[in-house]
Amino acid sequence: MRYHFENSGGVDRRGFLRQVFAGALVAASTLFPEKTEAARIFDIKSPKRRTRPMRKSTRFIILHTTEADGSGTVDCITQSGTASYVVDRAGAIYRILGKSQVSLGCGRSMWNGLVNLDNHAINIEVVGYHNKYPSGLQMESLKYLVGVLMRTYGISAGKVMPHSQVAYGRPNRWYRRSHRGRKRCGMIFATDPVRRRLGLLDRPRYDPDVRVKRLTVGDEYLSKVLYAKMSKQELAAITSQPSPDSEDEDLAVGTVQKGQTVWEYAGDEYASETTIYLLPDGRIRRGDDLLKEKFDFHNVQPGTRIAVGYTLGGCVTGERTPFSIAGQNWNRPDTLYLTDGKVITGDEINDVQIPAGTFLLFRK
Ligand SMILES: [Zn+2]
Repeated sequence: MRYHFENSGGVDRRGFLRQVFAGALVAASTLFPEKTEAARIFDIKSPKRRTRPMRKSTRFIILHTTEADGSGTVDCITQSGTASYVVDRAGAIYRILGKSQVSLGCGRSMWNGLVNLDNHAINIEVVGYHNKYPSGLQMESLKYLVGVLMRTYGISAGKVMPHSQVAYGRPNRWYRRSHRGRKRCGMIFATDPVRRRLGLLDRPRYDPDVRVKRLTVGDEYLSKVLYAKMSKQELAAITSQPSPDSEDEDLAVGTVQKGQTVWEYAGDEYASETTIYLLPDGRIRRGDDLLKEKFDFHNVQPGTRIAVGYTLGGCVTGERTPFSIAGQNWNRPDTLYLTDGKVITGDEINDVQIPAGTFLLFRK
């Protein structure tokens, strides 16, 4: 994840005090029963605790780097609910959400065919950079936290991965196909020296989605760090690797601007049944239906909106409740409600006030 702190203006005093007090009121958690251990975790109550659904399962631990050193990090993640835990530079561990709640750290993600890993993963944000080694205190705390979570949920070391290993990009103007290498978040956690220090004695040997051609490799260097044996010199050189100018465009719904084409948003998936077009005249259509209607994809009106990777659930009515349309996906953060030209996510929707005629899109 990348955050922008330009507006945070250094230490937000009130935010800081709130954290201190929240930390002082830490309740010994059932997840961390031993007193000495529980004391190391500060429970911060994110407002997202009220709305976030439970994870469908807990099979992965995904490690992120904040790409910033800012003092506002914990506050920012608390407000956005983008991680379950944060480990700061001094090694303090903050718990942001309820222990089984979805955190939105991975965004567009896939591992071995399973998509939307946020529904199956604990996201941990480490304050620091994808190409810098974490501090000794961070390593120690992270080793402890990851160890407890692995034991609690029965997660093996091979399922503890950096975000960059599971993120993928949709086709765009640079890549025709869906590709691995959308970002380098957490990359340092794939290296042997760091994994050894974290007590992670195993790691994936290959990319299962690239192997079966669901994805192509979009970042050769990242792929090397994730899977190749690196020499001492190469490991040392990681810290001087500049980040590529990648477009981390992970919007659920893109709007076609003047002069742009559907291929820039949907690539080869432009006529797929899971590519949904919101046409300026108000019609909502699947790509495959538009193809049958001989829709002119070459001349798409500016203002057309495109959601890639979605199932068109149709209209919400008195009979067709969100739950009857989307099942347990109805309140997930990646489920979209389209009403009056607005897009509201599943975790923000007020389910007693959904206007009839609201369209529902969800990811399976
Ligand atoms: Zn990340």
